[in-house]
Amino acid sequence: MSRNITILGSTGSIGRQTLEVMEALGMGAAALTAHSSVERMEEQARRFRPELAVLADERAAADLRVRLADTNVRVLSGQEGLLEAAALPEADTVVAAMVGMAGLRPTLAAIREGKRIALANKETLVCAGPLVLEEARDYGARILPVDSEHCALFQCLEGNRDRGEVKRLILTCSGGPFYGKKRQELQGMTREDALQHPNWSMGAKITVDSATLMNKGLEVMEAMHLYQMPVEKISVVIHRESIIHSLVEYCDNAMLAQLGTPDMRLPIQYALTWPRRVAGGPGTPLDLWHCGPLTFGEPDLDTFRCLALALEAARIGGTAGAILNGANEAAVGLFLEGKIGFLDIADKVALAMEQVAPVQDPALGDILEADRAAREAVLASR
Ligand code: NDP
Ligand code: MG
Repeated sequence: MSRNITILGSTGSIGRQTLEVMEALGMGAAALTAHSSVERMEEQARRFRPELAVLADERAAADLRVRLADTNVRVLSGQEGLLEAAALPEADTVVAAMVGMAGLRPTLAAIREGKRIALANKETLVCAGPLVLEEARDYGARILPVDSEHCALFQCLEGNRDRGEVKRLILTCSGGPFYGKKRQELQGMTREDALQHPNWSMGAKITVDSATLMNKGLEVMEAMHLYQMPVEKISVVIHRESIIHSLVEYCDNAMLAQLGTPDMRLPIQYALTWPRRVAGGPGTPLDLWHCGPLTFGEPDLDTFRCLALALEAARIGGTAGAILNGANEAAVGLFLEGKIGFLDIADKVALAMEQVAPVQDPALGDILEADRAAREAVLASR
């Protein structure tokens, strides 16, 4: 069980919910990091009194240093600050809750110190899954998934002794705000439309990924790496209610599912308390008498092309995940700035996948280069 925790991305949606869990369970903060949210970071640092607070942005960090001058919280900035926070000896656990590929290096730094990693930052595994898992094995760092589907799979796989007995991993997918719509109806969808998620309140990037279903594609790759399963043995089922968080089908046709309210504090708590289960957390219980019927359906891969592209990248392997992810991060950034339309996101990702050649068995340098080239392909196509 975790006692002293560093959060990479403490001011975000996952970061703030992690602090709620920590407060309820009496866990301490070793270091807190963010990009530039100075007010929120000041508030968190005063409340949780970490040893170290880091803002990647230099100016914001300078401002924070002045604001926290009356405390003994040390303030650092930049990439070096993030790496120092990730490796801080006082922490037993590092919650990787930064958004995007930017989380890769700090997560690797935490792994190299043998920390328990509560991993929300799925992009890290999509880009560098084999590398991250190899380092985790070498340095004895345990990775516990925070993503609700993967936490569900983790729980449904506990007690499984032979992976050969697993027939399929089944990831549930809410379908997002545009479920049931066809391509032509998605043409004019705006940032505001895409940011309305039916069941979950999350950061902007993952909310757009949930609208395109890219999020589910990234999650298929995350599951492949975490549970060492080929993409052919991973399915996606539309489940609008987000009550069943995922399922495992075994070779005898038994299916195990994990259920709960759509509340990220539940998987966050499990990652922090594993292998124990602890009462008194802030997560909301599920009321089966009133949660209504549960429904299941097939995803529409023609309309939601991002999911099809991600499955293709998963089949290709190597740096294809980093290319898909880098292109998607760049395209979602442009969409959030109002510079491209909703359907352009999939077009840009497809274009980058055509233009950038994947490399098999990549080293870290190949992965960073694939990410850079994919972003460049998207930005150059405007
Ligand atoms: P948010 O956008 O809400 O938060 C992101 C956090 O990372 C913020 O603290 C932000 O700081 C920080 N950050 C962003 N960019 C950088 C950078 N370049 N350097 C340093 N810090 C940075 O994201 P979410 O909490 O929604 O998501 C975080 C991760 O968890 C993502 O990978 C997402 O896919 C995954 N996830 C999220 C879920 C959710 O319910 N939200 C569910 C499952 C997975 P600042 O505030 O200063 O910008
Ligand atoms: Mg998820």
